[in-house]
Amino acid sequence: MDLLPLFLKLRDRECLVVGGGTVALRKIELLLEAGAAVSVVAPELHPGVRNLVDIKRIRQLADKFTQEMLEHKALVIAATDDAGVNHLVSELATARNIPVNVVDRPELCSVIFPAIVDRSPLLIAVGSNGSAPVLARKLRQKLESWIPAGYARLAALGGRFRQELKQQLPALDARRRFWESVFGGRVENWLLDASEEQGLAILRRHLEKTRSGLETAQGEVYLVGAGPGDPDLLSFKALRLLQQADIVLHDYLVPDEILALARRDAEKIYVGKRCKIHSTVQSEINALMVEYARAGKRVCRLKGGDPFIFGRGGEELETLAEAGIPFQVVPGITAASGCAAYAGIPLTHRDHAQSLLFVTGHLKREGEFVLDGLDWPALVRPNQTVVFYMGFKTLPLISRQLQAHGMAADMPAAIVEHGTRPEQRVLSGTIGTLPQIAEAAHIDTPALIIVGHVVTLRNKLDWIQQGANPV
Ligand code: SAH
Repeated sequence: MDLLPLFLKLRDRECLVVGGGTVALRKIELLLEAGAAVSVVAPELHPGVRNLVDIKRIRQLADKFTQEMLEHKALVIAATDDAGVNHLVSELATARNIPVNVVDRPELCSVIFPAIVDRSPLLIAVGSNGSAPVLARKLRQKLESWIPAGYARLAALGGRFRQELKQQLPALDARRRFWESVFGGRVENWLLDASEEQGLAILRRHLEKTRSGLETAQGEVYLVGAGPGDPDLLSFKALRLLQQADIVLHDYLVPDEILALARRDAEKIYVGKRCKIHSTVQSEINALMVEYARAGKRVCRLKGGDPFIFGRGGEELETLAEAGIPFQVVPGITAASGCAAYAGIPLTHRDHAQSLLFVTGHLKREGEFVLDGLDWPALVRPNQTVVFYMGFKTLPLISRQLQAHGMAADMPAAIVEHGTRPEQRVLSGTIGTLPQIAEAAHIDTPALIIVGHVVTLRNKLDWIQQGANPV
């Protein structure tokens, strides 16, 4: 270890930045975040640095660096494009034992700026001794996505509860065990979404349970939206809860790559039905969730898209609420957003559509001409986009009904099959021609239908196709 990582307290301490460009600005901003009193010396200032001088957040000393400026400094940074000046600053500061950093010249530095993950009061610093700053930054990016943003509040909450806990649990060992049972598990998940007051209440309740030995594992259910198919469209939270689950109950819409992200030892149970979800199957799913949660398991109910959009998520949660089982809900990117983005069709557009309807094209009674419950006059209004979920089987009916209610046969329409997946297919035409186009192409499920003038924008905005044939 060539360098000892330390966290430096700079609040109200004087720091000198030699140089006034973009790099200097980034360092100045960091120093200000740490509460330092910053002086800058440079003949020319970047507008951002100039602004900080103007509003008196920092001081400008002079045009040129002189060694008296090092007086009483806690830290000095050289960020000029003049190698001679940088060298001089390093030499003089080192001679006075003042920590010095010269940007991009590790050999002239006595301190190095790490890549920082800031969840204050929690701080993570990643350094590479100046030899691979890009690698350190990449590692930082990984940590950023891995550590929930809420950890800042969590750490602060821990601080607030410390005194109270000390009184209740005087033994250091017992307190350590308490915190270990809080962080990284179920209690933590609840704390991440709680307000400070709710958080304190959760900690008190958990403490009470721990002390009375009642801390038997209480099961719970996470209703998680897995998005439209591309695993990269999972949210951080979806991934975290999926990785904590003991049991994963998943639909047919959830691809294997996403299931592979669950814990290796988690039990994965397929509960989806490809076309229709019979009520008996739905009640079995409900019963399974309750059964596993009652057995103390953490259950991830993983659904395609968003669980609250044509996903029967509401019904599943009602069952859990009635059974008194705690649950959390994680939204997902719904198929309409995913398919539209990956097909280059903006769902709203100032010139084409000011409103947007999500409609189910699911036929309730098979063979019947009219789709149950759809407000056709509302669906054919101008200046809107209509997205049909589960409308693939009934596309000919949808097409006929829209036209029967006054929509022009040449209204643009598209069908997106396996949206956001590498095998995605998008076919566009008009509401009059789309049924034949889809049939001729043997479109399969899952498929989504988008109706409206916005579909024409795809000619310009199909970025996936354009990426495959760069100009
Ligand atoms: N809760 C889901 C929708 C479930 S209903 C969501 O928010 O997306 C199932 C219907 O969603 C399918 O019949 C299809 O119309 C649509 N769908 C889901 N994923 C899709 C995908 N990757 N591509 C095209 N359509 C999709």
